[in-house]
Amino acid sequence: MTKSFSGQLAPIRLPIFDVPPQPQKIERSPEETAQLKGRIRQLLREQDAVLVAHYYTDGDLQDLAEETGGCVADSLEMARFGTEHPATTLVVAGVRFMGETSKILNNEKRVLMPDLAATCSLDEGCPIDLFSRFCDEHPDHTVVVYANTSAEVKARSHWVVTSGIALPIVQHLAERGEKILWAPDQHLGRYVQRMTGVEMLLWPGSCVVHEGFRAEALEEMKRQHPRAAVLVHPESPQGVVDLADVVGSTTALIQAVQDLSNPEFIVATEPGIFNKMKQVAPEKVFFVAPNVGEGATCESCARCAWMAMNSLEQVVEVLENGTNEILVSPELAAKARVPIQRMLDFARKMKEKEQGGKGR
Ligand code: SF4
Repeated sequence: MTKSFSGQLAPIRLPIFDVPPQPQKIERSPEETAQLKGRIRQLLREQDAVLVAHYYTDGDLQDLAEETGGCVADSLEMARFGTEHPATTLVVAGVRFMGETSKILNNEKRVLMPDLAATCSLDEGCPIDLFSRFCDEHPDHTVVVYANTSAEVKARSHWVVTSGIALPIVQHLAERGEKILWAPDQHLGRYVQRMTGVEMLLWPGSCVVHEGFRAEALEEMKRQHPRAAVLVHPESPQGVVDLADVVGSTTALIQAVQDLSNPEFIVATEPGIFNKMKQVAPEKVFFVAPNVGEGATCESCARCAWMAMNSLEQVVEVLENGTNEILVSPELAAKARVPIQRMLDFARKMKEKEQGGKGR
């Protein structure tokens, strides 16, 4: 961490939206789970469909996605997987912007989602009319948006970024002398500013899950687990980021549990990720970082209620009935694809440069 920036937070009043309560956990026997999984396997085969799931979804869904030749990944990789897989239907277990991104990159395919009400506070807090007006007021700024946004917001931007590639892209734009308008996550924006030294105009959105992690309680937890490494997603507040041994995207945090020799990890991100972490490092122990709630130790508060809306039962239902299809018009998809493609091209060139460097 190099410089300290307060960030220029845009004076915008965000719309009020409801965060749903945690859905009731579905109780079923191992036999019932196996039956549901069997039914989904059959439906996927019959309908030429593939299941792609985000790291934050229920473990049964993640396991089934992998067992059936689908994938478990971050939002961009989910969409990219869909472009490479021959299936004509993509079942996207995650939140709405993920289904939309899949549809943007795979406009000719049918994209189904277990629950269309599963959204995201970053997406909800950045409605297109308000955002578009804000961009119009700053025509001299390059608009960089995080993947957690609607198709319309992506279409209004110049660049789409993920947390994994935000730093080099912002650095690159700053080197070209461009002024940057960043949306929608203010915490990730601040983190990018501090790491790159580039001042940006920040949209004041946030993730309700990551914003709930608490630095003081995390310090106490670190004292209780001196052998643990602290892994933090940069959507978390600065005080939490400052206590991290590793700050990074979901993919980077999963890599860290394999790379670091610590036997324990305290993790400040959605605990659905533990399914994958336990798979890649079964001998290690994982704790969710303290989140808001009584005494700042409410573990279930770190669950994303929207992600938790995805279930095996709903996958069966959408495949049987063809409901919950994501629709993005070809015109909108074409516009939204431009800033996504810019990021993908940038990532490809970066990789080529790295490989070229190694070859020398
Ligand atoms: S965890 Fe946060 S960023 Fe991810 S889907 Fe839920 S609200 Fe959105």
